[in-house]
Amino acid sequence: MIDTNTLWVWPRAEGGLSTDLTALQTALADASRALGFSRQELGRVVCPDAEMSIDFLTRPAARPDAPRLLLATGFHGEESAGPWGLLRLLQQLDPQALEQVHLSLLPLVNPSGFRVGRRFNDWGENPNRGYPSSRCLDGTPSREARLLIAHAALLVPAGADGVLCCHEDVGLSEAYLYSFERSEQAGAFSQRLLAANLAHFAMHPDGLVDDCPIRGGIVFNHYDASFEAWMMEQGAARAACVETPGQQPLERRILAQAAMMRVFIEQADKA
Ligand SMILES: [Zn+2]
Repeated sequence: MIDTNTLWVWPRAEGGLSTDLTALQTALADASRALGFSRQELGRVVCPDAEMSIDFLTRPAARPDAPRLLLATGFHGEESAGPWGLLRLLQQLDPQALEQVHLSLLPLVNPSGFRVGRRFNDWGENPNRGYPSSRCLDGTPSREARLLIAHAALLVPAGADGVLCCHEDVGLSEAYLYSFERSEQAGAFSQRLLAANLAHFAMHPDGLVDDCPIRGGIVFNHYDASFEAWMMEQGAARAACVETPGQQPLERRILAQAAMMRVFIEQADKA
C-alpha cells in the first residue's frame, strides 16, 4: 500500500533538494526555450501561500506528418526523478533530435505535491486518478485531472502517436512499467522502454505490483482511471507509464528517466 502522507526529499547531485520547485521551473523554462518550445499555461493551482501554474509546452517537427508525442511527468509529488529527468534530457538534447517528432510536454502536473515531496496535491487528491473511463470508475477527478480533461482537445491530438508518463515507485528497489498497445502482447514500444529502464535497475519479479499482474517487467493493457489509460481510450496509438524505483539513488533514477524519454522520442518512427 502506498503511503500518501510521507514526505520524500532527496539531495540532488547538483546541490539543492529534489523538492526545489523554483529551481526546477527556472531551469525547465531556460532549457525548453533554448530548444524552441513554446509554453502555454493550462491553468493554476491556488494554494493559501502560493499559486502554481500547470504548463503545456510544444515544439513542432519540420515535417507536418511527423509522429505526435506527449510526454508527461510529475503527477505524484514524491516521484521526483520524472521532472528532474525531463530537465536533464532537455539540457542534453540536440535540437536536431527533435526535428523528427511533434513533441508536447506536461513537465509538472502536480506542483503543490512536488514542492514538499508528497504524493497527492494540497487537497489530498490523486492527480492520476478520476479520468473518465468506460472500463473503470476510480475516484473523482483532482483539480489537476479536471484541468487536463478540460484541455482534451489540445492533449489528445498531441499524444495521438504515443504517450509517455513518467512515474516512480518509492517503496521499491526494482524497475517496471505499465504499457498499453493495440495488440495482445507488449511489442517493441514497451520492450524498448523497459530495456532502457533495466539498463539502470533490476527488473521487478513476476507476480503482482500494486495489485496488478506483472510479467517480464510489464503490466500490460491494464485499464484504470489514470491519465495514460484515458489517453488510450481517447484514441492514442500507444502509451506507457514508466516506474523507476525510489529506493535507489536519485541520480541513477534521473538518468534512467532521461534515457527512457530519449528512447520514446528517438524511436517514435520505429513504432
Ligand atoms: Zn506515480
